[in-house]
Amino acid sequence: MPTETTPRQLKIISQLRVDQVPQLSRLTPDQLLDMQAVASVLPFRVNNYVLEDLIDWDNIPADPIYQLVFPQPGMLAPADFARMRALIASGAARPEVTAAAREIQHQMNPHPAGQKQLNVPAQDGKPVPGMQHKYRETVLFFPLAGQTCHAYCTYCFRWAQFVGIEDLKFASGEPEVLVRYLRAHPEVTSVLFTGGDPMVMNASVLRRYIEPLLDPSLNLLSIRIGTKSLAYWPYRFVTDPDADDVLRLFEQVRQSGRNMAIMSHYTHPRELQRDIARIAVARVRSAGALVRCQAPIIRHVNDSAEIWAELWREQIRNNTVPYYAFVERDTGPKEYFRVPLARCLDIYNGALRKVSGLGRTVRGPSMSCTPGKVVVDGVAEIGGEKVFVLKFLQGRNPAWTGQVFFAAYDEQAAWLDELKPAFGESEFFYEAELREMQARGNAQVWVDAPEAAAVAAALIEEN
Ligand SMILES: *Cc1c(COP(=O)(O)O)cnc(C)c1O
Ligand code: SF4
Repeated sequence: MPTETTPRQLKIISQLRVDQVPQLSRLTPDQLLDMQAVASVLPFRVNNYVLEDLIDWDNIPADPIYQLVFPQPGMLAPADFARMRALIASGAARPEVTAAAREIQHQMNPHPAGQKQLNVPAQDGKPVPGMQHKYRETVLFFPLAGQTCHAYCTYCFRWAQFVGIEDLKFASGEPEVLVRYLRAHPEVTSVLFTGGDPMVMNASVLRRYIEPLLDPSLNLLSIRIGTKSLAYWPYRFVTDPDADDVLRLFEQVRQSGRNMAIMSHYTHPRELQRDIARIAVARVRSAGALVRCQAPIIRHVNDSAEIWAELWREQIRNNTVPYYAFVERDTGPKEYFRVPLARCLDIYNGALRKVSGLGRTVRGPSMSCTPGKVVVDGVAEIGGEKVFVLKFLQGRNPAWTGQVFFAAYDEQAAWLDELKPAFGESEFFYEAELREMQARGNAQVWVDAPEAAAVAAALIEEN
């Protein structure tokens, strides 16, 4: 077990220039221009740790961490890529570049899975800022100060907010809003802070959000933080000036009698193989927090059974819990990263076969889509038809959770909406009910109807 570390100052880099990233001098000017063309449309941000310690610069462009953070030509459609490249090569003025980029961004499905329309809850007849409440027991909270990350993943499904086509009105700077909502909704047992990355907030800001939740009169069982900081900036928990304060806050959550979980986004085993990364996990765990690990399956980055098996082995070695393997969402540069469901299943099962039961706590491949979290459980032949066996891990309607359903096997399909029901049925069992929810404009079926109607009206007005 490593014990020594030297403090490091975080340096954020968001310009693809050789004076900012000296490693880029390995590229030809043409290659650099390619990347700048893509980065004019999609977000780019990296830091000194990822640059210097995680990327293997002798292996670019194939290196998985390089693919994880650096824009690649294939991430735009060929015509869009050519257009942006020509604009930048000609030295076009900033407004012209931005306008062209905006057009392309809007064609890349910037708001997947009906998050805005269906997930924002209501209170006193108004949408509650900063929250999504899709599954009865769990509320997502988006703290305003936590809406960036220590680096950006090229495949991020929140990319639209980082390029500014989604304004930050969906986030909230007011912890009281959350507490008031929880008092009115004792069905919520878990609050999940998300972003961006809430761990970009300093300890005192984080404390303003978390401390009020420790009130014993609230019905909460757990507080979770979704973060990639353990991978992108492990110093956050070790040598940053407020690292100890953060750990103390986790301890306080435990002392209040609740589960404290870090939902850690690890995409590749290398993110767990640096000394500092192992130390960071050990420190978080020493504060009593549980670390659960999740990531999507991404072409060019981690699309092999061997990589996932190694990822889960590293997670087990570090006393963390493998939790979800996601299917990449249908947004942004999805064509570049796309892994068909059939292949996701092979990767998942292939990896599962290489680990002990301690690795099999992971569920996948799972799609977070409009009706709920749907896992591809397997392929079967039923009545002579080859089918995908699908199952709701979580349903927008809690009654759907655990329900199994079937889709015609399709080797190329990569998302639920590319699948057709099996056995010649015209639609999946939940579709009529989902349409009804969409017509009502709100899907919190356990919340009373007048509130649901009010939030729908307010959201329509706002947009
Ligand atoms: C995945 C997800 C959650 C958390 O789900 P768990 O299965 O409890 O980890 C909550 N809200 C939304 C919208 C989600 O997609
Ligand atoms: S850390 Fe999460 S929110 Fe941030 S860029 Fe990566 S996937 Fe997106």
